[in-house]
Amino acid sequence: MKEVRTRFAPSPTGYMHIGNLRTAIYEYLIAKSQGGKFLLRIEDTDQARFVEGAIEVILKTLDIVGLKYDEGPDVGGPFGPYVQSQRKSIYKDYADKLVELKGAYYCFCSKEKNDSESTAVPVKHDCRCKDLSALEISENFKHNKPYVVRQRIPHEGTTTFHDLVYGAVTVENSELDEGVLLKSDGLPTYNFANVVDDHLMEITHVVRGSEYLSSTPKYNLLYTSFGWDIPEYIHLPPIMKTAEKKLSKREGDASFEDFIAKGYLPEAIVNYIVLLGWNPGTNEEFFSLRELEKCFSTEGLSKSPAIFDVNKLKWMNGEYLRRLSLEDFNSLALPYYQEVLGREIDSKKVSALLQKRTEILSEIPEKVEFLHSLPDYDSALFVHKKMKTDYVNSLSNLKAAKEAMSVLETWDLANIEENLANLISKLGVKNGQVLWPLRTALSGLESSPGGALELAELLGKTETLRRIDVGINKLANKVD
Ligand code: GLU
Repeated sequence: MKEVRTRFAPSPTGYMHIGNLRTAIYEYLIAKSQGGKFLLRIEDTDQARFVEGAIEVILKTLDIVGLKYDEGPDVGGPFGPYVQSQRKSIYKDYADKLVELKGAYYCFCSKEKNDSESTAVPVKHDCRCKDLSALEISENFKHNKPYVVRQRIPHEGTTTFHDLVYGAVTVENSELDEGVLLKSDGLPTYNFANVVDDHLMEITHVVRGSEYLSSTPKYNLLYTSFGWDIPEYIHLPPIMKTAEKKLSKREGDASFEDFIAKGYLPEAIVNYIVLLGWNPGTNEEFFSLRELEKCFSTEGLSKSPAIFDVNKLKWMNGEYLRRLSLEDFNSLALPYYQEVLGREIDSKKVSALLQKRTEILSEIPEKVEFLHSLPDYDSALFVHKKMKTDYVNSLSNLKAAKEAMSVLETWDLANIEENLANLISKLGVKNGQVLWPLRTALSGLESSPGGALELAELLGKTETLRRIDVGINKLANKVD
Protein backbone atom coordinates (compact mmCIF):
# COMPACT_ATOMS: atom_id res chain seq x y z
CA MET A 1 0.00 0.00 0.00
CA LYS A 2 1.20 3.48 -0.92
CA GLU A 3 2.12 5.74 1.98
CA VAL A 4 -0.54 8.40 2.56
CA ARG A 5 0.90 11.87 1.96
CA THR A 6 -1.06 15.08 2.40
CA ARG A 7 -0.02 18.68 2.15
CA PHE A 8 -1.15 21.98 3.52
CA ALA A 9 -0.55 24.51 0.77
CA PRO A 10 -1.41 27.98 2.01
CA SER A 11 -0.81 31.18 0.14
CA PRO A 12 0.94 33.71 2.38
CA THR A 13 -1.86 36.20 2.81
CA GLY A 14 -0.81 37.53 6.20
CA TYR A 15 -3.27 35.76 8.45
CA MET A 16 -4.60 32.27 9.05
CA HIS A 17 -8.20 31.97 7.99
CA ILE A 18 -10.22 29.66 10.22
CA GLY A 19 -11.33 27.68 7.14
CA ASN A 20 -7.74 27.18 6.00
CA LEU A 21 -6.73 26.07 9.44
CA ARG A 22 -9.50 23.48 9.39
CA THR A 23 -8.22 22.26 6.02
CA ALA A 24 -4.75 21.94 7.50
CA ILE A 25 -6.10 19.97 10.46
CA TYR A 26 -8.01 17.54 8.24
CA GLU A 27 -4.94 17.08 6.04
CA TYR A 28 -2.82 16.42 9.08
CA LEU A 29 -5.36 13.96 10.48
CA ILE A 30 -5.85 12.10 7.22
CA ALA A 31 -2.10 11.50 7.11
CA LYS A 32 -1.58 10.76 10.79
CA SER A 33 -4.59 8.48 11.18
CA GLN A 34 -3.08 6.28 8.47
CA GLY A 35 0.55 6.46 9.54
CA GLY A 36 1.33 8.81 6.66
CA LYS A 37 3.20 12.06 6.14
CA PHE A 38 1.92 15.60 6.34
CA LEU A 39 3.82 18.37 4.64
CA LEU A 40 3.75 22.11 4.33
CA ARG A 41 4.15 23.86 1.02
CA ILE A 42 4.04 27.62 0.64
CA GLU A 43 2.19 28.74 -2.49
CA ASP A 44 3.62 32.16 -3.17
CA THR A 45 3.67 32.36 -6.94
CA ASP A 46 1.26 35.25 -7.00
CA GLN A 47 3.90 37.80 -6.09
CA ALA A 48 1.44 40.67 -6.28
CA ARG A 49 -0.37 39.23 -3.27
CA PHE A 50 2.76 38.59 -1.24
CA VAL A 51 2.62 39.98 2.30
CA GLU A 52 5.75 40.54 4.37
CA GLY A 53 5.91 38.26 7.43
CA ALA A 54 3.07 36.07 6.14
CA ILE A 55 5.11 32.86 6.05
CA GLU A 56 6.04 33.36 9.69
CA VAL A 57 2.34 33.64 10.56
CA ILE A 58 1.74 30.26 8.92
CA LEU A 59 4.68 28.57 10.66
CA LYS A 60 3.74 30.06 14.00
CA THR A 61 0.10 29.02 13.72
CA LEU A 62 0.96 25.42 12.89
CA ASP A 63 3.35 25.39 15.81
CA ILE A 64 0.79 26.79 18.27
CA VAL A 65 -1.90 24.29 17.31
CA GLY A 66 0.56 21.39 17.26
CA LEU A 67 0.33 20.47 13.57
CA LYS A 68 3.83 19.14 13.14
CA TYR A 69 4.75 18.66 9.52
CA ASP A 70 7.18 16.01 8.38
CA GLU A 71 8.45 18.07 5.46
CA GLY A 72 8.35 21.79 4.87
CA PRO A 73 10.24 24.99 4.17
CA ASP A 74 12.02 25.16 7.51
CA VAL A 75 12.43 21.44 8.19
CA GLY A 76 13.37 20.38 4.66
CA GLY A 77 12.62 16.97 3.20
CA PRO A 78 13.33 14.86 0.13
CA PHE A 79 11.04 16.81 -2.24
CA GLY A 80 12.14 20.39 -1.50
CA PRO A 81 12.24 23.24 -1.87
CA TYR A 82 8.82 23.60 -0.27
CA VAL A 83 8.31 27.23 -1.28
CA GLN A 84 6.95 27.54 -4.80
CA SER A 85 8.82 30.72 -5.70
CA GLN A 86 12.02 28.71 -5.25
CA ARG A 87 10.87 26.06 -7.74
CA LYS A 88 10.64 28.27 -10.81
CA SER A 89 12.90 26.20 -13.06
CA ILE A 90 10.97 23.03 -12.26
CA TYR A 91 7.71 24.52 -13.55
CA LYS A 92 9.36 25.85 -16.69
CA ASP A 93 10.69 22.38 -17.56
CA TYR A 94 7.31 20.79 -17.02
CA ALA A 95 5.52 23.50 -18.97
CA ASP A 96 7.79 22.85 -21.95
CA LYS A 97 7.19 19.16 -21.60
CA LEU A 98 3.46 19.70 -21.51
CA VAL A 99 3.61 21.70 -24.72
CA GLU A 100 5.44 18.78 -26.31
CA LEU A 101 2.71 16.48 -25.04
CA LYS A 102 0.07 18.75 -26.59
CA GLY A 103 -1.49 19.55 -23.24
CA ALA A 104 -0.50 23.21 -23.56
CA TYR A 105 0.75 25.79 -26.05
CA TYR A 106 2.89 28.90 -26.10
CA CYS A 107 0.78 32.01 -26.41
CA PHE A 108 2.44 35.15 -27.72
CA CYS A 109 -0.57 37.43 -27.52
CA SER A 110 0.01 40.93 -26.14
CA LYS A 111 0.77 41.30 -22.45
CA GLU A 112 -2.40 43.32 -21.93
CA LYS A 113 -4.50 40.58 -23.40
CA ASN A 114 -2.76 37.86 -21.43
CA ASP A 115 -2.73 39.76 -18.18
CA SER A 116 -6.42 40.39 -18.40
CA GLU A 117 -7.01 36.70 -18.96
CA SER A 118 -4.61 35.27 -16.41
CA THR A 119 -7.01 36.10 -13.60
CA ALA A 120 -9.47 33.60 -12.20
CA VAL A 121 -12.25 34.98 -14.39
CA PRO A 122 -13.40 32.05 -16.48
CA VAL A 123 -12.98 33.36 -19.97
CA LYS A 124 -12.83 30.96 -22.82
CA HIS A 125 -9.56 31.61 -24.56
CA ASP A 126 -9.70 30.61 -28.14
CA CYS A 127 -6.39 31.81 -29.31
CA ARG A 128 -4.75 31.61 -32.68
CA CYS A 129 -1.44 30.78 -30.99
CA LYS A 130 -2.47 27.20 -30.46
CA ASP A 131 -2.15 26.60 -34.20
CA LEU A 132 1.27 28.21 -34.65
CA SER A 133 3.76 26.12 -36.57
CA ALA A 134 7.04 24.99 -35.02
CA LEU A 135 8.78 27.49 -37.24
CA GLU A 136 6.63 30.43 -36.12
CA ILE A 137 7.22 29.47 -32.51
CA SER A 138 10.96 29.29 -32.86
CA GLU A 139 10.98 32.63 -34.70
CA ASN A 140 9.09 34.18 -31.82
CA PHE A 141 11.56 32.72 -29.33
CA LYS A 142 14.45 34.00 -31.42
CA HIS A 143 13.01 37.49 -31.17
CA ASN A 144 12.51 37.10 -27.42
CA LYS A 145 8.82 37.68 -27.81
CA PRO A 146 7.18 37.43 -24.40
CA TYR A 147 4.86 34.51 -24.02
CA VAL A 148 2.74 32.59 -21.57
CA VAL A 149 1.97 28.89 -21.57
CA ARG A 150 -1.72 28.10 -21.82
CA GLN A 151 -3.52 24.90 -21.18
CA ARG A 152 -4.95 23.22 -24.27
CA ILE A 153 -8.44 21.93 -23.56
CA PRO A 154 -10.31 19.52 -25.78
CA HIS A 155 -13.53 21.35 -26.46
CA GLU A 156 -15.65 18.24 -26.81
CA GLY A 157 -16.66 15.66 -24.29
CA THR A 158 -16.81 15.77 -20.52
CA THR A 159 -14.43 15.26 -17.64
CA THR A 160 -15.53 13.42 -14.54
CA PHE A 161 -13.77 12.96 -11.28
CA HIS A 162 -14.62 11.47 -7.96
CA ASP A 163 -14.52 13.52 -4.81
CA LEU A 164 -14.57 11.81 -1.44
CA VAL A 165 -17.03 14.35 -0.06
CA TYR A 166 -18.99 15.49 -3.12
CA GLY A 167 -19.07 12.19 -5.03
CA ALA A 168 -18.89 12.19 -8.83
CA VAL A 169 -18.42 15.62 -10.38
CA THR A 170 -18.80 15.98 -14.15
CA VAL A 171 -18.18 19.03 -16.29
CA GLU A 172 -18.47 19.72 -19.98
CA ASN A 173 -15.01 20.37 -21.38
CA SER A 174 -16.45 23.26 -23.34
CA GLU A 175 -17.03 24.99 -20.01
CA LEU A 176 -13.33 24.97 -19.17
CA ASP A 177 -11.13 27.88 -20.06
CA GLU A 178 -7.68 27.64 -21.53
CA GLY A 179 -6.05 29.35 -18.61
CA VAL A 180 -2.48 30.48 -18.22
CA LEU A 181 -0.19 27.86 -16.66
CA LEU A 182 3.08 29.72 -16.83
CA LYS A 183 3.11 33.50 -16.78
CA SER A 184 5.43 35.71 -18.85
CA ASP A 185 7.66 36.21 -15.79
CA GLY A 186 8.25 32.45 -15.77
CA LEU A 187 6.25 31.87 -12.60
CA PRO A 188 3.46 29.33 -12.70
CA THR A 189 -0.14 30.02 -11.78
CA TYR A 190 -1.75 28.01 -9.01
CA ASN A 191 -3.51 26.00 -11.72
CA PHE A 192 -0.21 24.56 -12.88
CA ALA A 193 1.98 24.61 -9.78
CA ASN A 194 -0.48 22.66 -7.65
CA VAL A 195 -0.52 19.77 -10.11
CA VAL A 196 3.22 19.64 -10.69
CA ASP A 197 4.01 19.87 -7.00
CA ASP A 198 1.35 17.45 -5.85
CA HIS A 199 2.74 14.95 -8.32
CA LEU A 200 6.42 15.54 -7.53
CA MET A 201 5.77 15.55 -3.79
CA GLU A 202 3.84 12.28 -4.16
CA ILE A 203 0.69 13.66 -2.60
CA THR A 204 -1.98 10.98 -2.32
CA HIS A 205 -4.87 13.08 -0.94
CA VAL A 206 -5.58 16.63 -2.01
CA VAL A 207 -7.72 18.42 0.56
CA ARG A 208 -8.88 21.96 -0.16
CA GLY A 209 -11.84 24.32 -0.26
CA SER A 210 -14.81 23.60 -2.47
CA GLU A 211 -14.03 26.72 -4.51
CA TYR A 212 -11.55 24.48 -6.35
CA LEU A 213 -14.16 21.87 -7.31
CA SER A 214 -14.95 23.47 -10.65
CA SER A 215 -11.33 23.74 -11.76
CA THR A 216 -10.33 20.25 -10.68
CA PRO A 217 -11.30 18.74 -14.08
CA LYS A 218 -8.69 21.03 -15.65
CA TYR A 219 -6.08 19.69 -13.25
CA ASN A 220 -7.06 16.16 -14.16
CA LEU A 221 -6.52 16.92 -17.83
CA LEU A 222 -2.99 17.96 -16.86
CA TYR A 223 -2.39 14.77 -14.86
CA THR A 224 -3.66 12.78 -17.81
CA SER A 225 -1.49 14.61 -20.35
CA PHE A 226 1.57 13.89 -18.23
CA GLY A 227 0.46 10.32 -17.62
CA TRP A 228 0.49 10.87 -13.86
CA ASP A 229 -1.73 9.24 -11.23
CA ILE A 230 -4.61 11.42 -10.10
CA PRO A 231 -4.75 11.89 -6.32
CA GLU A 232 -7.80 11.37 -4.13
CA TYR A 233 -9.78 14.59 -3.88
CA ILE A 234 -11.42 15.87 -0.75
CA HIS A 235 -13.09 19.22 -1.24
CA LEU A 236 -14.50 20.91 1.81
CA PRO A 237 -17.57 23.12 2.07
CA PRO A 238 -16.96 26.59 3.45
CA ILE A 239 -17.37 27.58 7.07
CA MET A 240 -20.07 30.23 7.15
CA LYS A 241 -21.11 32.86 9.63
CA THR A 242 -24.75 32.51 8.64
CA ALA A 243 -26.39 30.64 5.78
CA GLU A 244 -25.64 33.59 3.48
CA LYS A 245 -22.61 35.23 5.02
CA LYS A 246 -18.99 34.16 5.03
CA LEU A 247 -16.66 34.63 7.98
CA SER A 248 -15.03 37.99 7.68
CA LYS A 249 -11.63 39.15 8.81
CA ARG A 250 -12.94 42.66 9.24
CA GLU A 251 -15.63 41.47 11.62
CA GLY A 252 -13.02 39.59 13.63
CA ASP A 253 -14.35 36.08 13.08
CA ALA A 254 -12.18 34.76 10.27
CA SER A 255 -8.68 34.87 11.59
CA PHE A 256 -7.11 32.42 14.00
CA GLU A 257 -4.81 35.10 15.44
CA ASP A 258 -7.81 37.29 16.30
CA PHE A 259 -9.31 34.47 18.34
CA ILE A 260 -6.03 33.86 20.14
CA ALA A 261 -5.79 37.58 20.89
CA LYS A 262 -9.29 37.42 22.38
CA GLY A 263 -8.15 34.75 24.79
CA TYR A 264 -9.30 31.53 23.18
CA LEU A 265 -7.13 28.46 23.69
CA PRO A 266 -5.61 26.87 20.57
CA GLU A 267 -6.80 23.43 21.76
CA ALA A 268 -10.38 24.65 22.03
CA ILE A 269 -10.30 26.29 18.61
CA VAL A 270 -8.90 23.12 17.05
CA ASN A 271 -11.49 20.98 18.78
CA TYR A 272 -14.32 23.25 17.74
CA ILE A 273 -13.38 23.67 14.10
CA VAL A 274 -12.68 19.98 13.59
CA LEU A 275 -16.34 19.36 14.35
CA LEU A 276 -17.43 21.91 11.75
CA GLY A 277 -17.76 19.52 8.86
CA TRP A 278 -16.73 16.29 10.49
CA ASN A 279 -18.83 13.96 12.56
CA PRO A 280 -17.07 11.46 14.81
CA GLY A 281 -20.05 9.11 14.65
CA THR A 282 -20.54 9.31 18.43
CA ASN A 283 -21.86 11.98 20.78
CA GLU A 284 -18.39 12.78 22.05
CA GLU A 285 -17.52 16.44 21.57
CA PHE A 286 -14.16 16.80 23.23
CA PHE A 287 -11.13 15.69 21.31
CA SER A 288 -7.48 16.46 21.65
CA LEU A 289 -5.35 16.40 18.53
CA ARG A 290 -3.71 13.21 19.81
CA GLU A 291 -7.11 11.53 20.15
CA LEU A 292 -8.15 12.71 16.71
CA GLU A 293 -5.00 11.25 15.20
CA LYS A 294 -6.37 7.88 16.25
CA CYS A 295 -10.05 8.20 15.47
CA PHE A 296 -10.29 10.53 12.48
CA SER A 297 -11.71 9.10 9.30
CA THR A 298 -12.84 10.78 6.08
CA GLU A 299 -16.19 9.00 6.29
CA GLY A 300 -17.33 11.57 8.85
CA LEU A 301 -16.77 14.51 6.49
CA SER A 302 -19.85 16.32 5.34
CA LYS A 303 -20.64 18.41 2.30
CA SER A 304 -23.09 20.77 3.92
CA PRO A 305 -21.62 24.15 4.78
CA ALA A 306 -20.98 24.49 8.49
CA ILE A 307 -22.10 27.46 10.54
CA PHE A 308 -19.52 28.91 12.86
CA ASP A 309 -21.27 29.48 16.18
CA VAL A 310 -19.06 31.72 18.24
CA ASN A 311 -21.15 31.08 21.37
CA LYS A 312 -20.53 27.37 21.07
CA LEU A 313 -16.81 28.03 20.69
CA LYS A 314 -16.95 30.26 23.76
CA TRP A 315 -18.66 27.57 25.74
CA MET A 316 -16.14 24.98 24.62
CA ASN A 317 -13.29 27.31 25.49
CA GLY A 318 -14.75 27.73 28.97
CA GLU A 319 -14.80 23.95 29.33
CA TYR A 320 -11.16 23.79 28.31
CA LEU A 321 -10.28 26.48 30.84
CA ARG A 322 -12.06 24.57 33.61
CA ARG A 323 -10.16 21.39 32.78
CA LEU A 324 -6.79 23.09 33.31
CA SER A 325 -4.89 22.75 36.57
CA LEU A 326 -5.09 25.85 38.75
CA GLU A 327 -1.39 26.51 38.03
CA ASP A 328 -1.91 26.41 34.28
CA PHE A 329 -5.00 28.57 34.42
CA ASN A 330 -3.15 31.05 36.61
CA SER A 331 -0.21 31.35 34.26
CA LEU A 332 -2.53 31.92 31.29
CA ALA A 333 -4.51 34.48 33.28
CA LEU A 334 -1.49 36.39 34.65
CA PRO A 335 -0.99 38.70 31.66
CA TYR A 336 -4.66 39.66 31.90
CA TYR A 337 -4.38 40.38 35.64
CA GLN A 338 -1.38 42.57 35.06
CA GLU A 339 -3.57 44.93 33.09
CA VAL A 340 -5.56 45.76 36.23
CA LEU A 341 -4.28 44.21 39.43
CA GLY A 342 -1.64 45.51 41.78
CA ARG A 343 1.07 43.21 43.07
CA GLU A 344 -0.45 42.94 46.53
CA ILE A 345 -3.23 40.65 45.32
CA ASP A 346 -2.54 36.93 45.31
CA SER A 347 -3.20 35.93 41.71
CA LYS A 348 -3.58 32.24 42.54
CA LYS A 349 -6.51 33.06 44.80
CA VAL A 350 -8.08 35.21 42.12
CA SER A 351 -7.60 32.35 39.67
CA ALA A 352 -9.30 29.93 42.03
CA LEU A 353 -12.36 32.18 41.90
CA LEU A 354 -12.25 32.93 38.20
CA GLN A 355 -11.45 29.57 36.68
CA LYS A 356 -15.02 28.35 36.99
CA ARG A 357 -16.44 31.63 35.77
CA THR A 358 -14.37 32.44 32.71
CA GLU A 359 -15.15 31.47 29.13
CA ILE A 360 -12.47 33.46 27.37
CA LEU A 361 -9.37 34.94 28.93
CA SER A 362 -10.00 38.44 27.61
CA GLU A 363 -13.04 38.65 29.93
CA ILE A 364 -10.66 38.64 32.88
CA PRO A 365 -9.65 42.32 33.16
CA GLU A 366 -13.30 43.33 33.25
CA LYS A 367 -14.06 40.65 35.85
CA VAL A 368 -11.25 41.68 38.21
CA GLU A 369 -11.28 45.43 37.68
CA PHE A 370 -13.29 45.87 40.90
CA LEU A 371 -10.44 44.38 42.91
CA HIS A 372 -8.19 47.13 41.68
CA SER A 373 -10.61 49.99 42.16
CA LEU A 374 -13.96 49.95 43.85
CA PRO A 375 -16.68 50.92 41.37
CA ASP A 376 -18.86 53.87 42.23
CA TYR A 377 -21.95 51.83 42.97
CA ASP A 378 -25.50 52.70 43.87
CA SER A 379 -26.42 52.09 47.51
CA ALA A 380 -29.62 50.39 46.30
CA LEU A 381 -27.38 47.34 45.80
CA PHE A 382 -27.44 46.78 49.55
CA VAL A 383 -31.17 46.18 49.47
CA HIS A 384 -31.88 42.55 48.68
CA LYS A 385 -35.24 40.97 49.25
CA LYS A 386 -34.13 37.37 49.46
CA MET A 387 -31.25 38.22 51.78
CA LYS A 388 -33.67 40.28 53.88
CA THR A 389 -31.46 43.33 53.81
CA ASP A 390 -32.46 46.98 53.75
CA TYR A 391 -30.60 50.24 54.31
CA VAL A 392 -31.02 50.16 58.05
CA ASN A 393 -29.89 46.63 58.83
CA SER A 394 -27.16 46.81 56.19
CA LEU A 395 -25.74 49.87 57.90
CA SER A 396 -25.77 48.43 61.38
CA ASN A 397 -24.42 45.04 60.26
CA LEU A 398 -21.63 46.63 58.25
CA LYS A 399 -20.66 48.70 61.26
CA ALA A 400 -20.62 45.57 63.39
CA ALA A 401 -18.60 43.70 60.78
CA LYS A 402 -16.06 46.49 60.65
CA GLU A 403 -15.66 46.43 64.41
CA ALA A 404 -15.30 42.66 64.53
CA MET A 405 -12.90 42.48 61.60
CA SER A 406 -10.67 45.31 62.69
CA VAL A 407 -9.47 43.31 65.70
CA LEU A 408 -8.56 40.29 63.56
CA GLU A 409 -4.84 39.69 63.61
CA THR A 410 -4.32 36.80 61.27
CA TRP A 411 -5.98 37.70 58.01
CA ASP A 412 -6.77 34.44 56.27
CA LEU A 413 -9.91 32.76 55.05
CA ALA A 414 -10.37 30.48 58.10
CA ASN A 415 -10.01 33.31 60.58
CA ILE A 416 -12.21 35.69 58.65
CA GLU A 417 -14.85 32.99 58.43
CA GLU A 418 -14.71 32.20 62.15
CA ASN A 419 -14.77 35.85 63.07
CA LEU A 420 -17.84 36.57 60.97
CA ALA A 421 -19.61 33.38 62.07
CA ASN A 422 -19.20 34.48 65.68
CA LEU A 423 -20.50 37.91 64.83
CA ILE A 424 -23.55 36.53 63.03
CA SER A 425 -24.48 34.33 65.96
CA LYS A 426 -23.86 37.13 68.41
CA LEU A 427 -26.13 39.44 66.42
CA GLY A 428 -28.69 36.67 65.97
CA VAL A 429 -29.24 37.61 62.30
CA LYS A 430 -29.31 35.56 59.12
CA ASN A 431 -25.98 34.89 57.39
CA GLY A 432 -27.04 36.93 54.38
CA GLN A 433 -27.82 39.96 56.46
CA VAL A 434 -24.13 40.35 57.24
CA LEU A 435 -22.56 38.69 54.23
CA TRP A 436 -24.63 40.42 51.54
CA PRO A 437 -23.88 43.97 52.67
CA LEU A 438 -20.27 43.00 53.20
CA ARG A 439 -19.93 41.44 49.74
CA THR A 440 -21.61 44.48 48.24
CA ALA A 441 -19.32 46.87 50.06
CA LEU A 442 -16.23 44.91 49.04
CA SER A 443 -17.12 44.52 45.38
CA GLY A 444 -19.47 47.39 44.55
CA LEU A 445 -21.10 44.94 42.16
CA GLU A 446 -24.40 43.16 41.91
CA SER A 447 -22.55 39.92 41.42
CA SER A 448 -18.90 39.16 41.86
CA PRO A 449 -16.56 36.21 41.56
CA GLY A 450 -16.33 35.04 45.15
CA GLY A 451 -18.38 35.94 48.21
CA ALA A 452 -17.68 38.27 51.11
CA LEU A 453 -15.13 35.99 52.79
CA GLU A 454 -12.99 35.34 49.71
CA LEU A 455 -13.08 38.97 48.70
CA ALA A 456 -12.05 40.11 52.16
CA GLU A 457 -9.12 37.73 52.14
CA LEU A 458 -8.05 38.82 48.65
CA LEU A 459 -8.30 42.54 49.34
CA GLY A 460 -6.40 42.36 52.63
CA LYS A 461 -7.33 43.96 55.90
CA THR A 462 -6.64 47.63 55.13
CA GLU A 463 -8.52 47.70 51.86
CA THR A 464 -11.38 45.63 53.31
CA LEU A 465 -11.87 48.06 56.17
CA ARG A 466 -11.60 51.02 53.79
CA ARG A 467 -14.28 49.61 51.50
CA ILE A 468 -16.54 48.88 54.45
CA ASP A 469 -16.20 52.54 55.40
CA VAL A 470 -17.21 53.61 51.90
CA GLY A 471 -20.31 51.41 52.24
CA ILE A 472 -21.11 52.78 55.68
CA ASN A 473 -20.93 56.34 54.37
CA LYS A 474 -23.19 55.55 51.45
CA LEU A 475 -25.72 53.92 53.76
CA ALA A 476 -25.50 56.65 56.37
CA ASN A 477 -26.59 59.14 53.70
CA LYS A 478 -29.63 57.00 53.00
CA VAL A 479 -30.64 56.35 56.59
CA ASP A 480 -30.28 59.90 57.95
N1 GLU B 1 -2.84 28.00 -2.14
C1 GLU B 1 -4.18 27.57 -2.19
C2 GLU B 1 -5.01 28.40 -1.23
O1 GLU B 1 -4.46 28.97 -0.30
C3 GLU B 1 -4.25 26.12 -1.77
C4 GLU B 1 -5.24 25.31 -2.45
C5 GLU B 1 -4.86 23.85 -2.34
O2 GLU B 1 -4.73 23.37 -1.23
O3 GLU B 1 -4.64 23.21 -3.37
O4 GLU B 1 -6.19 28.51 -1.42
